[in-house]
Amino acid sequence: MPTTPMRSSSGSASLPASAEALASSLALWYRAAARSLPWRGLKDPYAIWLSEVMLQQTQVATVLGKGYFSRFLEAFPTVEALARAELPELLARWSGLGYYARARAMHAAAKEIALRGAFPDTMDELRSLPGFGPYTAAAVASIAFERPEPAIDGNALRVYGRLVGLRAARAEAEPLLRELVRPLLAHGKPSELNQAVMDLGASLCAPATPSCPLCPWREPCVARRLGLQAEIPPARKPTARRRLSWVAAVLRDERGRILLARRPERGLFGGLWELPGGELSSTGDERRELARLLRERLGIRVRVGAAVAEVSQILTHRDLRVVAHAATSSGSPSALTGYLGVRFAGREDLASLGLSSVTRKLLAKLDGRADRPARRTVTHQRASARLGAP
Ligand code: SF4
Repeated sequence: MPTTPMRSSSGSASLPASAEALASSLALWYRAAARSLPWRGLKDPYAIWLSEVMLQQTQVATVLGKGYFSRFLEAFPTVEALARAELPELLARWSGLGYYARARAMHAAAKEIALRGAFPDTMDELRSLPGFGPYTAAAVASIAFERPEPAIDGNALRVYGRLVGLRAARAEAEPLLRELVRPLLAHGKPSELNQAVMDLGASLCAPATPSCPLCPWREPCVARRLGLQAEIPPARKPTARRRLSWVAAVLRDERGRILLARRPERGLFGGLWELPGGELSSTGDERRELARLLRERLGIRVRVGAAVAEVSQILTHRDLRVVAHAATSSGSPSALTGYLGVRFAGREDLASLGLSSVTRKLLAKLDGRADRPARRTVTHQRASARLGAP
């Protein structure tokens, strides 16, 4: 393989060997080292799209470990089936994967594809669909339709950046690398080469400790030759994290079913069911604030008891803490402001509802407590401190 850098028209970075040689060594390595994944070898654009969306913010091990991919495909085997699904059912199937905006965008895109009558096979058409960014569009176009489009996600950015020795922030590096490495895809199957880079980034070219001696690109790799692996990609400035404090009510009916409220479709945990409540103002007394929130949002007066469960969750740019209080009510709740609907749900109903991850955690904690009134004979209309006793 030649080691003389090949000049490129893309800024000052250049390929450190011929595109043909790079593609050939990568393909050879991939044929021996490719990961065995359920979506590998598929040509169905819908299944490929689903796998890419699931993997955007969820680890491969999580997607595989709980069978999310195969269970979702069983429930919605075609893009038409997904288009016909009701959003709450879809969100319930997505439950546990988090980042529900992905599922909502998939639903919207599936409807458009079903209307068009065929799965789009060009970058322009794919990019026009909801949720199809440059990476997802390139992954589907290349893997399903063999279009020579480089799929540049975080892993590919690191691998290619190190290969060419590009020390630039993501916004600058991504378009530059996309054009720089595009010629590689002309020297092999785009589906194979893009997936090879995905696997290289997920295995040998790890962020902290790359296994360069085993890498098919060890000879031409500029970062390896110059010892720049730790500097590429450059560390991102930490973004300021916001703390979110929520309060929620544990309110049950006479059958022990728990009250849930459905969040608006847009925004955090959009369209999912949760224990009703809301954000705590910085000055508010927790119980009084919860009573106010339920009065305003559900039109019920509640008597708020002790805190019975608390969970924390790290979100993108935010740290969320939710404290749930036992509560009793003297009225019938209805969704007034900030919720799309309310319902009481028994244990058997929970599996089919799209629940936010914090709600799942809270319910799991409540399961182990003695606050459940299922064995008690009070109704939620009868304000009773007994319901709220932890
Ligand atoms: S030689 Fe090392 S740094 Fe370069 S692409 Fe391979 S694993 Fe990554």
